[in-house]
Amino acid sequence: MFNKILIANRGEIACRVAATARRMAIQTVAVYSDADAHAKHVQACDEAVHIGNSAPRESYLRWEKIIAAAQATGAQAIHPGYGFLSENEEFAQACAKAGLVFIGPPASAILAMGLKAEAKQLMERAGVPLVPGYHAANQDPEVLQQAADAIGYPVLIKASAGGGGKGMRVVESATDFAQALASCKREASSSFGDDAVLIEKYVQRPRHIEIQVFGDMHGNYVHLFERDCSVQRRHQKVLEEAPAPGMTDALRLQMGAAAVAAARAVNYVGAGTVEFIVEPGSKTDGSTIGAFYFMEMNTRLQVEHPVTEAITGLDLVEWQLRVANGEPLPLRQEALAIQGHAIEARICAENPDKQFLPATGTLQVYALPDSSAFDRAPGAVRVDSGVRQGDAISPFYDSMVAKLIVHGATRQEALARMETALKQTHIVGLPTNVEFLRRVVRTPSFANADLDTALIAREAGVLFSRETVGLQIAAAALVAATLHAEQQAAKGTDRSGWVDPWARRDGWRSHGAYQRGFSVGFQEATHSVVLRKNTSTGAADGAPSGPWVLEVEGACAVFQFLAGDDHAFDLQWGPRRLLVWVYREGDVFHVFTNSGSTRITAIDALAHAGEAHAEVGRLTAPMPGKVVSMAVKAGDAVRKGQALAVMEAMKMEHTIAAPADGIVGEVLFAPGDQVTEGAELLRLQTPVAPI
Ligand code: ADP
Ligand code: ADP
Ligand code: MG
Repeated sequence: MFNKILIANRGEIACRVAATARRMAIQTVAVYSDADAHAKHVQACDEAVHIGNSAPRESYLRWEKIIAAAQATGAQAIHPGYGFLSENEEFAQACAKAGLVFIGPPASAILAMGLKAEAKQLMERAGVPLVPGYHAANQDPEVLQQAADAIGYPVLIKASAGGGGKGMRVVESATDFAQALASCKREASSSFGDDAVLIEKYVQRPRHIEIQVFGDMHGNYVHLFERDCSVQRRHQKVLEEAPAPGMTDALRLQMGAAAVAAARAVNYVGAGTVEFIVEPGSKTDGSTIGAFYFMEMNTRLQVEHPVTEAITGLDLVEWQLRVANGEPLPLRQEALAIQGHAIEARICAENPDKQFLPATGTLQVYALPDSSAFDRAPGAVRVDSGVRQGDAISPFYDSMVAKLIVHGATRQEALARMETALKQTHIVGLPTNVEFLRRVVRTPSFANADLDTALIAREAGVLFSRETVGLQIAAAALVAATLHAEQQAAKGTDRSGWVDPWARRDGWRSHGAYQRGFSVGFQEATHSVVLRKNTSTGAADGAPSGPWVLEVEGACAVFQFLAGDDHAFDLQWGPRRLLVWVYREGDVFHVFTNSGSTRITAIDALAHAGEAHAEVGRLTAPMPGKVVSMAVKAGDAVRKGQALAVMEAMKMEHTIAAPADGIVGEVLFAPGDQVTEGAELLRLQTPVAPI
């Protein structure tokens, strides 16, 4: 086995690879960019080499630097993780030339599967079922239009070199085809440097089911069963699970054989994934899974590999290392079996209510479920994380910060464990999809395993901009956290231990000593909350006799709380009793309960007087990133909602739309420019009505 490997990646996957290497007594070398000088993956390795500036092009994609780092540190092999150089055949070749083992498939297999159209031609010859479509070389728009007409609408145009859910257009009818083709080609050439496309029948309500395969250098192949990755946003996976609900032994055999045939056709070695798009089952025979078609092969370790590890009890990175070292596959097909059910959730720094716009910022609070017992304790959760509390999420890389993986005897058990794990995930400092994931796993569709790629769209009504924690609970939590902080501060300064909850240092007193008012902001509105001393002598039967009475928008009841620690509170308010976790970030209180999370703001009436609000007419960058395109020029008249510019950051595109009708004043940036968050992109003038 290797003595030392270099991990050419960052974040959770670099940490995950390092963990297996450590267990196998293999030394590890990390590489890092400027932005990652203090990153978790650097600490997770035995040595680290700086490879350049923060932008991936200037660090994690610079393969000559990475190869030099491996040679300088005496590493014998390079693990590329996923993303970055993992599917770059030139890099795989360069490794071999430098006498380093590339922990992945041969360069020829990466090349063969790299372009979707060529891969499909190859699969056709290998007898793997394909989605009805066109994947020939001729890119004449006339020919493509005819092909689409012949397939029948709706069709999907895909960039052959595409990935990460980008470069795809659904076309509903023949008249829309030409325009969609042009726009897809534009995106393909700017994102992937190759404008070739293929056309597929657009499968309605499909499922995404993929097969994990493994090959070795001795011609052996196995598959490690399937994963269902149907729950997607922007054609990107959000939740993955194994096995696929509704999968039958017969179908698993067929799909497994097709996946192995695909791997064999390219002399595959190492870990790979064959992705299939699957038609819904027919109502008549009661099956939930219909015909399956090859979509693409990912020639690397996949983000969602931990669910396969959970149900097989295997370590796929260990298998990768053994295979790369020339050993035969550790197990034969007959020795592999599925145990229970596993689900993974991807935790991303993004804002689901703003079309999943990626977010940057600092992880002020990063409390995840305890994962120390995952291998031993049933019900324990596995956390694969690339960050720590206090770390910054920069605009340079992917927005995924961690993965939660749960395993149970049944899907129902795994689902319950996922709900618990998400409940225990408290992240403050930047928007994340945690609350969104909590809602997704509770939808009837997900709970009943009614899975397809439209699940999020179908359940949108309960997934977005909806409060699961109301004003009353949020306000009670704010009051409890405020009083607790004051008590703690008083204890620190007053030796007698005397606590006077009315001795506020940071606010105002309302009507004399026995009443205290708070002004709070909740969902764009301001509310008043009043706390009084409870002057009633005896409590009515059964009612709590707390020291206070709390009034929130007309609801008034006896109130008390117990602090578990500085963030956990047991609230009692009238007949309600509730556990809440509260984290303060300036004036904002982040409140987590067992049913959801929300934020509420303490408004200090004086502090905000005169503060400038966002100027109407200035259009600013919602995140740091690159300007991809400007759809307008100075003097153009635009309508409310019209797309003005497209920005890209963290692998996602975001369209800046006009907030009102108007005339474009000045355009301040050009496509290709890098902009900081808040930078003014262009000015919009509202037309003045003629007198
Ligand atoms: P999957 O099918 O596994 O979701 P994708 O093609 O979407 O695969 O990408 C795989 C993963 O690689 C992404 O989810 C992301 O975490 C990682 N990745 C890809 N490109 C980058 C990048 N430029 N920076 C950081 N991570 C990346
Ligand atoms: P990428 O390289 O971006 O991962 P894929 O070809 O794997 O691209 O497709 C990504 C996703 O797009 C799939 O998981 C599925 O949700 C959707 N998709 C792809 N092809 C089709 C199709 N023919 N019909 C319907 N949906 C599709
Ligand atoms: Mg894919």
